[in-house]
Amino acid sequence: MTLIDGKAVSAAVKERIKKEIEEKNLKIGLAVVIVGTDQASRVYVNNKKKACEFCGITSYEYALPEETTEEQLLELVDKLNGDGNVNGILVQLPLPNQIDEKKIIERINPEKDVDAFNAVNVGKIMIGDYSFLPCTPAGVMELIKSTGTEISGKECVVIGRSNIVGKPMAMLLLHENATVTVCHSKTRNLKEVCSRADILVSAVGKAGFVTADMVKEGALVIDVGMNRNAEGKLCGDVDFNSVKDKCGFITPVPGGVGPMTIAMLMENTLRAGKLQSL
Ligand code: NAP
Repeated sequence: MTLIDGKAVSAAVKERIKKEIEEKNLKIGLAVVIVGTDQASRVYVNNKKKACEFCGITSYEYALPEETTEEQLLELVDKLNGDGNVNGILVQLPLPNQIDEKKIIERINPEKDVDAFNAVNVGKIMIGDYSFLPCTPAGVMELIKSTGTEISGKECVVIGRSNIVGKPMAMLLLHENATVTVCHSKTRNLKEVCSRADILVSAVGKAGFVTADMVKEGALVIDVGMNRNAEGKLCGDVDFNSVKDKCGFITPVPGGVGPMTIAMLMENTLRAGKLQSL
């Protein structure tokens, strides 16, 4: 088994971005909006700000109180849409209940939608003609490619069909000519389906969900899950200890997909800046 080092791959991506920004003397800005005091969201936002600093991207943080109204957040999005220093806008999810996430996402100018959650960008991904790829699935593609594994013609199984991970993940694999199966909570014979996978991507959100009997000998296993185990430790969906002896490649959690998601956000922000300066 070979461990796929997400930290190393993401570091290389960030180095490349930093170099390009330095060499071309680009001025790139990312607005990061966080509403409320969710601890996990705070950690993600801090990591994104750190990555911006490393790459030479200016980050503008907007930390709004929990009781912020939808109207107030829409006003801020409008302001950022019109701000020439802001090339990318990221609204950290989840948002408090009084705010309709969909309305906020749809209000972000698609050219600044560096998460690629806006329907315009989702549609572009579907037809394979896109400016931004959604960060987590794009990061997974980089990790698969880093192993030198050919994707074309392979059996790929994605567990999970969310709009932000599972569905776009399936689409990116399909664009690379994989034969893709998407599983979800109503899938029958999940074990059997997963055991067919040359490349298995799990995005379920349940610790220990993928066990060795679901994995084909020598498969490439990508663990997108970010969960807390009984001891409160960060862990993925995959039962790492049993699966590692059966698979060919595997991503650890932490240190796998997580760092890649942030690196791809930097990539999208740089791309947004370049597209807007055309
Ligand atoms: P989500 O919206 O909750 O989707 C979970 C998916 O898993 C759903 O499609 C659900 O099926 C499916 N599922 C649940 N139980 C199942 C079962 N017993 N058998 C088969 N499928 C089942 O979650 P998400 O936003 O996609 O995130 C998934 C995980 O990835 C979470 O742990 C999240 O924290 C993590 N994540 C990590 C990153 C990163 O950067 N590393 C980024 C984003 C998300 P139904 O559709 O039928 O309900």
